[in-house]
Amino acid sequence: MEHPVVAVVDLETTGLDPGRDAIIQVAVIRREQGAVRRFASLVRPPAGVPEVVLRLTGLNPDALAAAPPWPVVQPQVAALLEGAVLAGHQAGFDRAFLGETVPAGSPVLDTLLWSRIAWPGLASYRLENLVEARGLTVEPWPGLPRADYHDARTDAAAAWALVEDLAQDLAGLPVDVRQDLERLLPEEWGVWQALAGDAPRSAARSPLRAPWREEAGGSEPEAYDGPLPGAGWWLGAEGPLAASWPGYEPRPAQAALARAVEAAWEQDRLLVAEAGTGTGKSLGYLVPAALAGLGRGERVLVTTHTVALQDQLWQKDLPAVTGRLPVRTALLKGRGRYLCLWKAEEAWGRAAGQELALSLPERQAWAQLLVFMARAEAGDADELHAVNGEVRRLWPALQADREACAGPRCPFSGPCFMRRAYRQAQAAHVVVTNHALFLAHAALGEGGLPPYRRLVVDEAHHLEDAAAQAFGFRLDLAELDRVLGTRLAVRRGAQVAEVAAGLENLRGRARAVREEAGRLGARLAAAAPAGEGPRPVRVDAARWTAWEADGTAAAVGSLAASLQALAGAAGDVLEVARGLFGEGVREDPAWLAVLSWQRDLAAAAQGLGEWGRPHPAWVSWWTPVGEAGAVLERRPLVVAGLLRRLIWDRVRSAVLTSATLRAPRGRTEAEAFAFITRVLGLPPERLDTLAIPTPFDVPRQALLGVVEDFPGVDEPGYLDRAAGFLETVVPPLGGRTLVLATSHRTVRALAGLLRPRLEARGLRVLAQGLDGPPGRLVRAFRQGGGSILMGASSFWEGVDVPGPALALVVILRLPFASPGDPLREARDERLRQEGRSPFRERALPEAVIRFQQGFGRLLRTPADRGAVVVLDGRLGPAATRYSREFLRALPGPRLVSGPESEVVAALRAFWAQGGD
Ligand code: SF4
Repeated sequence: MEHPVVAVVDLETTGLDPGRDAIIQVAVIRREQGAVRRFASLVRPPAGVPEVVLRLTGLNPDALAAAPPWPVVQPQVAALLEGAVLAGHQAGFDRAFLGETVPAGSPVLDTLLWSRIAWPGLASYRLENLVEARGLTVEPWPGLPRADYHDARTDAAAAWALVEDLAQDLAGLPVDVRQDLERLLPEEWGVWQALAGDAPRSAARSPLRAPWREEAGGSEPEAYDGPLPGAGWWLGAEGPLAASWPGYEPRPAQAALARAVEAAWEQDRLLVAEAGTGTGKSLGYLVPAALAGLGRGERVLVTTHTVALQDQLWQKDLPAVTGRLPVRTALLKGRGRYLCLWKAEEAWGRAAGQELALSLPERQAWAQLLVFMARAEAGDADELHAVNGEVRRLWPALQADREACAGPRCPFSGPCFMRRAYRQAQAAHVVVTNHALFLAHAALGEGGLPPYRRLVVDEAHHLEDAAAQAFGFRLDLAELDRVLGTRLAVRRGAQVAEVAAGLENLRGRARAVREEAGRLGARLAAAAPAGEGPRPVRVDAARWTAWEADGTAAAVGSLAASLQALAGAAGDVLEVARGLFGEGVREDPAWLAVLSWQRDLAAAAQGLGEWGRPHPAWVSWWTPVGEAGAVLERRPLVVAGLLRRLIWDRVRSAVLTSATLRAPRGRTEAEAFAFITRVLGLPPERLDTLAIPTPFDVPRQALLGVVEDFPGVDEPGYLDRAAGFLETVVPPLGGRTLVLATSHRTVRALAGLLRPRLEARGLRVLAQGLDGPPGRLVRAFRQGGGSILMGASSFWEGVDVPGPALALVVILRLPFASPGDPLREARDERLRQEGRSPFRERALPEAVIRFQQGFGRLLRTPADRGAVVVLDGRLGPAATRYSREFLRALPGPRLVSGPESEVVAALRAFWAQGGD
């Protein structure tokens, strides 16, 4: 193709619906044989423009009212699009609004889609973020004083820069991937090729076409024989961090944590350390971990609960250490997070064979996956931001798995992402992983993680629940249906009659078991109490007795037996295959798939055989999904003994840390840690505890307001009062408010009440579950712009907004666990049976820890100032016998407690004194 004529278009509109909304700004850049024509115009809308759109685009309503209407602008746009390839960021959106202005059959290049294909691992695909991530220079629009994203002129100019960058970058893909992209998306690929002109084309081949086997053996972490001063020096004023880190200031609290960690390593002790916000706890344990690993030539495992913290350690904190010490580090995720190159090759071979039958979304998905395989560094799912739902649908069949892995025999064992990560971890002094993988490894005692003797558990307050999940059982009937429906086809041995008959038998039986599972799903869906949304339903002794009478218990047992029999039949077929090929079975991905199938069914059969039956130490429940779906779960009530046996008794030393581990307070330190040490089964004879308060000046930086005259959160009128309170205090702050609820239902209801009231005043409501995924909401909130952010559960600890973007945190109610959580209910019952108080031993400490986390959202740096307001009268200092436990758990904010009017007046006075 000759150099194509390309017209990059960007539109601003009154909304997202082309049938209802109107264009209010258009910008076009047309390039033809080196000549550039630009056109931009405001467009007078037929009706008003929503306030939020005006704020987002910065367009002037008077200028819009004076602009020409679309029928006047349209011919000029049509002339520029004539004979051109239409390009733009989310070009499908612009195309839909332009309608017949775009010549029929004109090719469309979507820079958003192709950015996802070309760079699957970027954190954001917003135009401005792509420009920054790719280091692009955007040619300014003539006459426009500054680049202003969401102005169509800047966006069109940025999209043009992206088109040029994509064309050059795609030319650098391995030669075989380029050929595949041409087969999958020929028309668009042809345009990219032409746009790339004579850019150098790569002659390299992707790992899929150039497999190699890994070399035998692997290295272990090596001891460093040079001088290694202690962590205090590394973190201190004379240390290398201070010398090379602009603005670095030694933190005494961090040094205290590091000393305690070193002492625990030295004396082979277990340390539980609460380190308040601002301590700098990550470096407080990473530096001693690196020194211990280097000094002893051994491995230290560091585990976190959230991906956010794992990313922070890996991307920010560890590089600060590795840049100054010869320490080797590795990041390990669960096997299922990595793509298996062998499975991918098999699956792509099948898909390519039926290429003509692939839908457009499937073609786009394969285009992204092939680039991902060629370009991904770690090859894990976190590096793959799916181009569409097809990628997510394909992933389970492509992910690495313990059983279906040929290991060193695999022709791809060299470039294999999972084995590379494992080899790196084997040689590393510090290995970062997550609670789920670490606990699964502890439970299974094999594979997944290299051996370790020293351990750091961050976010340790999540360890109990993570352990209950890891040691428990979960069966999603939809996932079981997918496994049972797997196409069992082998090439090697398929012509052997016994193999063919065995596989045919398996397929027939699998069909019958699928139907049986479907009937159980429908039975469970029908047995769930009617109510709003899918809620977990506990199988207690009374329900099981009723199920024994009505046949449900028998249906559960029957499905378990059928699964077991099917797994056994698969084992028989595998035996035949082993007889034919010996261990060569493990060198054939199709046979490995049968092996994995057998493993999955056997595990499901075993768990299901125990699920639902009353047991004093376990609880079972199911969550209905749709009309015939259900997720079945079973968990241990107490994990203390298991953790002690599987972890604490096996490691030489461990450090458990978090910003919130003590509760309730007000007694001795040992008593304050009693809850966490008891539920985690930490042996007292080896245990030390340490509490490091936040170094922030909390009495000066923070105000705590308790509104005592609010109705109970479940009483009528509560939400109206809460909405009224927020309507009073939020607009003067210009948004900058985080609202923490304890249920998604409350978030939805409150957002519904607030949205019209606040948006009319130019403020944006960002509600979890309504306005986008949590990460995106938090990023939007962080950027400011007059927002109020509302969320439940994960927002109590997952929101980190330093600086003036956050001035107020509103806690709607004290965060006692909601009723209806089967695990908590069963734990409470057990405590009651033992004559203990579930409230004092469980509900209260858990709520106090959660409350501290919510409070902790406010102050993230020493310069932050702001207020936390609790709309729950139970926190009034004299209101309840436990309110003191909550108040004492906080690091001493100034307290104002009283009727709403008093708290509002105190807030105004606080802000008038520069409180924000
Ligand atoms: S070594 Fe295992 S996980 Fe890796 S590519 Fe081969 S079969 Fe897949």
